[in-house]
Amino acid sequence: MRRPFVAGNWKMNNTLTEARALMRELREQLSPQAAVDVAVCTPHTLLYPMGREIDGTAIALGAQNCHFEPSGAFTGEVSPRMIKEAGCTYVIVGHSERRQHFAEGGEILKRKVEAALQAGLDVIYCIGETLEQRQQGETEAVLDRQMAEVLHGGLDAGRLTVAYEPVWAIGTGVTATAEQAQASHEFVRSKLASIFGASGAAKMRIQYGGSVKPGNAAELMACPDVDGALVGGASLVAGDFVAIIAAAAAASR
Ligand code: PEP
Repeated sequence: MRRPFVAGNWKMNNTLTEARALMRELREQLSPQAAVDVAVCTPHTLLYPMGREIDGTAIALGAQNCHFEPSGAFTGEVSPRMIKEAGCTYVIVGHSERRQHFAEGGEILKRKVEAALQAGLDVIYCIGETLEQRQQGETEAVLDRQMAEVLHGGLDAGRLTVAYEPVWAIGTGVTATAEQAQASHEFVRSKLASIFGASGAAKMRIQYGGSVKPGNAAELMACPDVDGALVGGASLVAGDFVAIIAAAAAASR
């Protein structure tokens, strides 16, 4: 049985004042006993203060991106060990917004995943097809490529989560149906098995991401290969995020 994992991706939202208020609401509403791993991935400026806010709670901290070098002349970048020392357990790598707006591709993402694991961070590696790729029948080929160019058997599978995020569902309000999500997750797990072995893949968590809301979370979380969610917009509203976490907990019982 895989323990569900729900992570919030705040993207470029929340000032320190707003973040403190949201975190306070989350702390008040979140049941500490929920049988779900919970993380909040904040902008870099909020990592250290949010780490203090979540101290003593069951909420873990994550970053949304990192560089692949430990230090050096990379103006504007933040290294995995800086993120780790700020209090992070997780880092998201390969989010479609990074691929799309910052031209991040397989070669860079592979280095980022390796560097993050090396620094002691757990990685949420995002993959997903665009609408055009889905319409062309290329979904599995895209997922296959995005995994093959970054993941390999030398990585610690126990510290890797894959987030399947169809690009057409991110921030659009259109979510994959449970059938579409399950089909892709099953495919992703079969590919993970070819990289990490069947028992390694069976233990790995595959999150679904793309307009997850309280109203659709239960159906998605009930899919046998959906092990939680990566949540963007709904993670900015404490009640919605908590409801999604509750749906993941209920599905795991
Ligand atoms: C995301 O940012 O990874 C995401 C899935 O966003 P949203 O939930 O808003 O679609």
